[in-house]
Amino acid sequence: MYTNHRQSHSFGRSKFRSQRFNRFSNRRFQRPTGSINQYIARATVKTNSIQEAPARVIQFDSLDLPENLKTNIIRHGYTELTPIQASGIPAIRDGKDVIGIANTGTGKTAAFLIPLIEKILKDRAYRALIITPTRELALQILEELRRFSVGMNINSAFCIGQSPIYIQIKELKRNPNVVIGTPGRLKDLIKRGALDLQGFRMIVLDEADQMLDMGFIHDIRHIISFLPEKRQSLFFSATMSTQIDNLIKSFVKNPVTISVKKRETTEHIRQNIVKVENGQTKIEVLSKLLGQEEFKKVLIFDRTKRGVDKVTSRLYERGFRVASIHGDKPQHKRHQAIRMFKEDVVKILVATDVAARGIDVANISHVINLDIPATYEDYIHRIGRTGRADKSGVALTFSE
Ligand code: ADP
Ligand code: MG
Repeated sequence: MYTNHRQSHSFGRSKFRSQRFNRFSNRRFQRPTGSINQYIARATVKTNSIQEAPARVIQFDSLDLPENLKTNIIRHGYTELTPIQASGIPAIRDGKDVIGIANTGTGKTAAFLIPLIEKILKDRAYRALIITPTRELALQILEELRRFSVGMNINSAFCIGQSPIYIQIKELKRNPNVVIGTPGRLKDLIKRGALDLQGFRMIVLDEADQMLDMGFIHDIRHIISFLPEKRQSLFFSATMSTQIDNLIKSFVKNPVTISVKKRETTEHIRQNIVKVENGQTKIEVLSKLLGQEEFKKVLIFDRTKRGVDKVTSRLYERGFRVASIHGDKPQHKRHQAIRMFKEDVVKILVATDVAARGIDVANISHVINLDIPATYEDYIHRIGRTGRADKSGVALTFSE
């Protein structure tokens, strides 16, 4: 049932080995690789989808999944499968290694969680490792797992940095079915002998292209080296470069690529540029926008932590209720900021790219880029925080 894996030894032996990257803040030194006009032009072109989603709409009701799992999915408000779910779930159930590519906000999480839960229900010894680039995304996936597995007695361990490790060690002692975490802490737990990956049969890299990029590749390769060769490997993202694709194919034999992207971004995101004229400051322009009725729930990106702090206090001084998140904030503050934004305690969140990937907050009306994102992929992920799950949204990028 499972494919064999061959780990190539040349994989990842790069010149960056000794260099430590701060995963998000190193981008401050990076000049944008394109202009905002180029990003928008590229973001709206049609793609050659490798595999069109089945034209027929499939209802969860009609799937031959365990009844309790189906009940939980439907209770969660899902009725029809999204394209990546319709194509991805059968392939994962079949035990294939999958590279799953689909636009932001189109249900990639459930595409891997649903077959995973099914596998656990069929074999209680089944174990899976899910790795994400940020702690917030790890928590979001854990919460989604809990919703889908209500009443199933599926154990999980939540292994992220800047959180008490003794609790994680205790959770791991119970041999949880699912371990969700971020690379640094997972490595640490392996080193301490608290996490033994021998019995794991599945690995999921969410935001896979970022997980295999310079900032994380060494940690990921290290963690993967502890997994059994016979396992199922899943890679999900809205973006994938040829380079990362080749990298994946160099250490997973015969993965199937399921790409259901018809366009680079969903049609639900309207993209525009905001010109900051001479004599105006960004804060003035921003405040004016935020004062408008239709800016109901706004996520503002700035590339640097200092920039985020500055914008946050300027907005606060101007009377806006605002929360902020970046890599230098203590973890409880980071979780709190996301929660306040999710629960509408604040309608404005200012963030670095730490919030650009995977974060699913319902009904964000606008994403505003105060600077031009460092890469085209950063742009796609930032703006992908709006226009999710068939809702529509607006993405604005400031340009001086
Ligand atoms: P992605 O990982 O592709 O960016 P998510 O998995 O975060 O997207 O899903 C985006 C949103 O869509 C979430 O709020 C999720 O609950 C919702 N969603 C996912 N699949 C479905 C579905 N089949 N029906 C309705 N809503 C869904
Ligand atoms: Mg996602």
